[in-house]
Amino acid sequence: MVKIAVEQPFADVRRALKKKGYQAKMVKQPTDAIGYDVCVVRNLDVFDGSHVEGSLVETRGRSVNEIVDEVEERLQRAGKIAGTADASKSSSGGGFTTGAVIGALAGAAAALLTTPKTGKELQSIVKEKTLEVTDQVKEKANEMKEKKGKSSPFETIPDGFRVVTVGSGNPLTEVGRNAPSTLVQYKDKYFLVDCGASTTSTLMELGLPAKKITNMLFTHQHVDHNGDFWTFFIDGWQGSTGRRELNLAGPQVQDLYDTTVNFFKKDLEYRASLGTAKDGALTNVNITDFTEDQHSLELDGVKITAIPVPHTAPTYAFRFEAGGQSVVVSGDLAYTDDLAPFAKDADILVLDGMMTGTFSDLPEQAAENLREGLEGSHATTEDLAKMAADAGAKKAVLTHLGLGGMDTANVKKAFSDANFKGEIVAAEDGLVIHP
Ligand SMILES: [Zn+2]
Ligand SMILES: [Zn+2]
Repeated sequence: MVKIAVEQPFADVRRALKKKGYQAKMVKQPTDAIGYDVCVVRNLDVFDGSHVEGSLVETRGRSVNEIVDEVEERLQRAGKIAGTADASKSSSGGGFTTGAVIGALAGAAAALLTTPKTGKELQSIVKEKTLEVTDQVKEKANEMKEKKGKSSPFETIPDGFRVVTVGSGNPLTEVGRNAPSTLVQYKDKYFLVDCGASTTSTLMELGLPAKKITNMLFTHQHVDHNGDFWTFFIDGWQGSTGRRELNLAGPQVQDLYDTTVNFFKKDLEYRASLGTAKDGALTNVNITDFTEDQHSLELDGVKITAIPVPHTAPTYAFRFEAGGQSVVVSGDLAYTDDLAPFAKDADILVLDGMMTGTFSDLPEQAAENLREGLEGSHATTEDLAKMAADAGAKKAVLTHLGLGGMDTANVKKAFSDANFKGEIVAAEDGLVIHP
């Protein structure tokens, strides 16, 4: 019989293991888990350098399913249950590397102890194993860096939707407010809507490496919404643990993809030649190019619909529905009668709040000119209030801000005048919103 321990409070992991026929014991401290084959722990870092008997599986930033899969894989590798470990699968799981390092060290020691060798042979074994270990340690160090210190909103998996305004800014670069990007999460599935400058590094800071995101949607192809796509696309794919599939949807995404792979042809081929599989970049990329009025698709069990909205380029609003909840992301837009019915009763409605700002960072005349220039492509505060109120949205999140911040008094007045009954949320980079 296999022995599994699960650190408190991850009772959902124990339940999932039980469903698969494994008994697991909850433990208060991972250090209590003596004599277990596998121990599921919150944080691998605390075991750095310490002797560990069984295998450790980390929960941080991972879904219950991923955790259970890795537990099974560990048991298989240890010969505790039948089946052969799938090496490609094992390399995709986060937090796997500590075990791999321990395993490699044990393997090297065993090779030295059990097989009589000549001095030269021994030297080469040690060298080979050391290289292997060094690589794995490096990989682990990188992973640690990803996770260092801060607690991540992605340490837990929500029951339904979660929205994170990864970048809440506008086309003018500002420190502390990055270009637009909104992450929609449903349970352990991620949907990135737009990818403005710094999106990939902000996601990493938040504890969600780009490699974990396999659904990339674009509202439109303006540079403040796609400026970081090259990094997201290539960085998320490269290396042995990179993503191996990508769904790409939105207007002009075929063109964006073709341009990217043509421009980076040699770069991508070089990386592939170093051992990164082509899947996820050159192959296994599923493109849904929006060319008609309305679109509907299903990705990872979430129904996604999109309608065109008025802006200066072909632009779409997205609606995500699953488990009786809904999230709408408006994209950049001027007022349209179409948005309220599309966003009807949304639990979270993310809106282009460009015009809710004070524009106080700009000289008066420049602010006035800009405001005038933006009319017709971004909705006024009053228009936003009307759309949110008509939709009956429960939370209206105003993003695409900056240039001196939001004119909150005016926003409150406009939303109240429009009889908006929900909650108004001013976005920040990394702000987490739940229904
Ligand atoms: Zn735009
Ligand atoms: Zn924009």
